Amino acid sequence: MLPISPLPLVSVPPAPRPDPVPWSGSAPFADPFTADPAVELLLDGAVRLLSGWFAGSAKATPLPGLCVMPSVAPQARGLAPELLLADLQRLIEGAYNPNHPGAMAHLDPPPLLASVVGDLIAAGLNNNLLAEELSPSLTRLERSLCRWLARALGLPPGSGGVPASGGSLSNLMALVVARHSRGLAGCAEAVVLCSADAHVSLAKAVAVMGLPPSALHTLPVDAEGRLAVPSLVAALEDLDRRGVPVLAVVATAGTTVRGAVDPLVAISAVCRPRGLWLHVDGAIGAVFALAEAHAHRVEGLGLADSLTVNPQKLLGITKTSSLLLLAEPGLLEQTFGTGLPYMEPGWGGAHGGETGLQGTRPAEILKLWLGLRQLGLEGIGALLDGAIQRRRALQALLPADGRLRLLGGSFHLLAFRPAGLVGAAAARWSEDTRQRLLAEGLMLSRPLYQGSHHLKAVLGNPHTGSEQLAAVARCVEASL
Ligand SMILES: *Cc1c(COP(=O)(O)O)cnc(C)c1O
Repeated sequence: MLPISPLPLVSVPPAPRPDPVPWSGSAPFADPFTADPAVELLLDGAVRLLSGWFAGSAKATPLPGLCVMPSVAPQARGLAPELLLADLQRLIEGAYNPNHPGAMAHLDPPPLLASVVGDLIAAGLNNNLLAEELSPSLTRLERSLCRWLARALGLPPGSGGVPASGGSLSNLMALVVARHSRGLAGCAEAVVLCSADAHVSLAKAVAVMGLPPSALHTLPVDAEGRLAVPSLVAALEDLDRRGVPVLAVVATAGTTVRGAVDPLVAISAVCRPRGLWLHVDGAIGAVFALAEAHAHRVEGLGLADSLTVNPQKLLGITKTSSLLLLAEPGLLEQTFGTGLPYMEPGWGGAHGGETGLQGTRPAEILKLWLGLRQLGLEGIGALLDGAIQRRRALQALLPADGRLRLLGGSFHLLAFRPAGLVGAAAARWSEDTRQRLLAEGLMLSRPLYQGSHHLKAVLGNPHTGSEQLAAVARCVEASL
């Protein structure tokens, strides 16, 4: 084992390796005629590495102290399984460790075991969601689960959608569908409205869509970090007066820094009568609608025309897992369909490659399906309960005497900085405190928000216990 010290992260060049050993009589592909012991040797070996890593996670730190890189380029002769596994072990030792109880920096929880298995099986099947003949069972699974999830999150009967490799892509596809359905496809003047706290992926989407940066109108947020509806109304009236077409209004259900939820019901009431497309970016918050006890936190989610949800962010589905869900999923094919001339027609609906930007797609649906089935609805509820309880517990432990400015929504995110510290002073404080936390095996992130750095705890890690929360609070208190 390599020495693990919390700081700093250094990278060392690869160690010299003995002469390469060729594959010891086994082929690099699984034998389709007979059971080859080499297949299980490699797969079992990989599973052992991974279980070993899981089991040792708490003894390590969230960030590795040392990163020893294996050789990168393929050698002249291929490597035997033992050597491949040895290389993997090195990479694993330099990996970020989401399983550590002190890992609370980002929206990257430990992976659900069933979703790890789902990923492995999906890779082994190597089906392609591009077309139904390349993924007969998985295409059906994808359609059905998208429909189920859309309904479970409150979208109307007939709703459904498509998985995408990440929320940024879901948001981009949503805006492209909105533009198409509003007949604005060739229009260079159309604008998108969202709050100042909306996700950076919207700026990327606008750029990809060939619109100028000014096409993204960011509106002020209230003291709780929610889109201020009066400014939305005022902006819409102004655009209307100037004859500027609106491509979509984007509301966020769970902002990235503080987990704020825009007032979805009120925003929908502004959009509906005006015939405006409402996209809800629920990358963080939409999953709360899956549990009755928490659905009130995202009230109005089902009023969206389109909805982004990222099960990778809190439910622990392995990356990437994001879906774009729509009240009218047929718009996906209308927007993205090309006829796919080199494929047999689909049997049960549009091909996967006709319902979004991606062509060839892995069966990301498999790990989501297996993960949700492993948790069950009660397990999902318990995961959400735990995240909320940890946020509340940390909030209760932090100084409440006004020395700290706390920014927390109704979710599992809590951002803070000392009251009165701004600019360079806040940057220094956040950097020093983050380092002190890291030295204790506690990892928080350091977002720049409204011009000043904060520390942010994301409490979605089910391994984080009262011990870690108390240690964070102690360290923060000592920093003031
Ligand atoms: C994370 C996030 C996204 C982007 O998701 P990726 O999977 O990282 O592309 C979009 N919106 C919000 C609110 C997010 O927090």
